[in-house]
Amino acid sequence: MTMKVACGHHTDVGRVRSHNEDGLIAGRRVWAVADGMGGHAAGDVASSLMIGRLHALDEADALRPTDLLTALAEASETVRQHGDEHPRSAGLGTTVTGLAAVEVDGEDRWAVFNVGDSRVYRLADGELARVTVDHSEVEELVAGGIITADQARHHPLRNIVTRSVGGANPPAVDLWLLAPTPGERFVVCSDGLNSEVEDADIARLAATPDPQDAAEALVAAALAAGGRDNVTVVVVDVQEPSGS
Ligand code: MN
Repeated sequence: MTMKVACGHHTDVGRVRSHNEDGLIAGRRVWAVADGMGGHAAGDVASSLMIGRLHALDEADALRPTDLLTALAEASETVRQHGDEHPRSAGLGTTVTGLAAVEVDGEDRWAVFNVGDSRVYRLADGELARVTVDHSEVEELVAGGIITADQARHHPLRNIVTRSVGGANPPAVDLWLLAPTPGERFVVCSDGLNSEVEDADIARLAATPDPQDAAEALVAAALAAGGRDNVTVVVVDVQEPSGS
């Protein structure tokens, strides 16, 4: 990987929940958020298993998109087995969303990946755009024109995900390959951010110059808005080449 990146990250249990079942990795080649689900603290186990597998992936000297997809499938099987072996944790699972620096035909690419309703946004030229598509009941209602994106934030089905890591079958992973662009920034977050904070406010705070300050400002905004869920943010900057 020839591009240089700078990163910030922050997570908080929120103002209502007793456990933080979100996990994150801010590595050398992999940056991601996992939002665990399941009773008896099983969500914490599921997200930890997922993040642990991504840490192993992060140790590799070079990554291809297939390495990423293999890691996600293996982590899903590990989570599923944990549920089989611990009946109290049955039904545990996790979302996973983020980006990995991969090589495709010798070229650097971002592999943005998603399973579930955590999100990756991209900030470039002052514009914030969502890269990922939520795998959730409400996203399908928005896509069908039945409710608006703002109504989705308050809808009773907003917590129902339609894909997750840890199910009976390997997860169907959405994958986007993007050419790195100096000056761009990615914001990876759990739904504890976007369920509390409107996109316009996410866009304004995501533009905070320092990536660590940006991550902390976004988490603080979610807490100020109610903090009803765990909230996690990872910010990744692609730096300008030195001397430019
Ligand atoms: Mn959540």
